[in-house]
Amino acid sequence: MFNLILFGPPGSGKGTQSEKLIEKYGLKHLSTGDLLRSEIANQTALGLEAKKIMDKGHLVPDEVVIGMISSAMEQHPNAKGFLFDGFPRTASQAEALDKLLALNNEEIAVMLALEVGEEELVKRLMKRGETSGRSDDTNESVIRARIVEYLQKTTAVADYYHTFDKVKLIKGEGTIDEIFSALCKEIDEKL
Ligand code: ADP
Repeated sequence: MFNLILFGPPGSGKGTQSEKLIEKYGLKHLSTGDLLRSEIANQTALGLEAKKIMDKGHLVPDEVVIGMISSAMEQHPNAKGFLFDGFPRTASQAEALDKLLALNNEEIAVMLALEVGEEELVKRLMKRGETSGRSDDTNESVIRARIVEYLQKTTAVADYYHTFDKVKLIKGEGTIDEIFSALCKEIDEKL
């Protein structure tokens, strides 16, 4: 299997690049944001609780997202590999993910970290909010709260994988195709 984490702050282009990467490499896309939004759309108890937290720009509890990822992985035992998007977002999620993969003698091959400046992120998310229907994209203070959560809790995930020498930094500003090529170059080196 080839398992990769696409990492970066909200609005860094993880969703856009994930779509292109899964198509090219035949990976299964696991996005905790998408899984949570599908719970919300289905009005499950989990979804209703998660929505309150997401609308404040805060992180959903670790146990919830770890449980969702674990069952999504179990549902795809024959995947060629997973592309994790928006997960792990805390150091405990990273440890839990490594344990889940280790159960099947698997591991993360590489973490590709998209780097984008804060003002560009806010601009992109406000623009996405005009059409995405995502309530967390329409309010600048919620967007800034998500960036604060990222800086306070999520950057620790990059530190974690850095200790295993698995992090590659990718410039996340430029055209979609330029960024995609930079990502593919790193993946091809690991394959
Ligand atoms: P973005 O990265 O653009 O903020 P996502 O779709 O990845 O968008 O996530 C939207 C929201 O879902 C986050 O702000 C957070 O509340 C919640 N969320 C998604 N993934 C996780 C996670 N791994 N841990 C905790 N909360 C999460």
